[in-house]
Amino acid sequence: MLRDSFGRVATDLRVSLTDKCNLRCTYCMPPEGLDWLPNAQLLTADEIVRLVTIGVERLGITEVRYTGGEPLLRRELPDIVGRTVALDPRPQVSLTTNGIGLARLAGVLVEAGLDRVNVSLDTLDRDTFKRLAHRDRFDDVIAGLSAAHEAGLRPVKVNTVLMRDINDHEAVPLLRYCLDQGYELRFIEQMPLDAQHGWSRENMVTADEILAMLSASFDLTADDLEDRGSAPAERFLVDGGPARVGVIGSVTRPFCGACDRVRLTADGQIRNCLFATEESDLKTPLRAGASDEELAARWIAAVSRKRAGHGIDDPSFLQPSRPMSAIGG
Ligand code: SAM
Repeated sequence: MLRDSFGRVATDLRVSLTDKCNLRCTYCMPPEGLDWLPNAQLLTADEIVRLVTIGVERLGITEVRYTGGEPLLRRELPDIVGRTVALDPRPQVSLTTNGIGLARLAGVLVEAGLDRVNVSLDTLDRDTFKRLAHRDRFDDVIAGLSAAHEAGLRPVKVNTVLMRDINDHEAVPLLRYCLDQGYELRFIEQMPLDAQHGWSRENMVTADEILAMLSASFDLTADDLEDRGSAPAERFLVDGGPARVGVIGSVTRPFCGACDRVRLTADGQIRNCLFATEESDLKTPLRAGASDEELAARWIAAVSRKRAGHGIDDPSFLQPSRPMSAIGG
């Protein structure tokens, strides 16, 4: 098992398939993009599946989420999903995506065995989308969302980051839209993970603010706060339910004590926390011929060093050198 020194057990593996993305969301990266990892440094599909197999079959991973960067940019994604669901015991397999290309791929991914999808959508306004993501791809995202729904993925979750004076007036319309479409919306507080280091606490739209905006138009009742487990989102029934909305207060309402996540970057590094400043290299030993036992032992050691909390409130907090796109959100 992947147990840390505080007794938390990691069962949820987030795998970044690439650091590249076809959007440039301002809370993530600059408009000109970043220096992408050279292809030779990216894990191949076989290497990814080998490490995921070790995680699932030896180390107790029960959920695998493919992310990035933008995971739909990896042509081998359906193959990787298909090989992941064939593992024994079969893990739950999900995807976090910006939705561009999902209109074409949703059916193929469902056929490969994909269980769930989260699609990022921060605005319902085409011009705001362009301003926020520096690309005119709003229609592709909307089409991707409805294709995911039509392909039978349930629930289709929508991730939204609100930014002050850009899209923070859209909390209510976004929730109305998601209720109408049958999607489950989750707001995520903006975290200090952008490549430009432009995050500031004053500009962050907090969970309290989001709930106040929503409560002015909807009746919100805490849903499963007693039984939240390791889920990052606090969920609320909207107008008595059954529809729900989630708020992930990563900064102001941290949930590190219940964290069950571990991350594998696209270049084969294990990160025991989004905000970790240290990584453990699995790619080098893997390419040097390490056995499954040796790789598992390195992975166990990496998780055992997980800190108690992300420490954003510590005066000594240092933003990780890798941005979100390179870690895998
Ligand atoms: N490209 C995919 C997507 O857009 O969903 C997957 C990767 S993206 C890094 C994963 C999630 O992280 C997205 O929902 C995005 O909104 C969120 N994200 C990125 N940077 C963030 C930040 N600084 N704070 C909070 N969430 C962030």
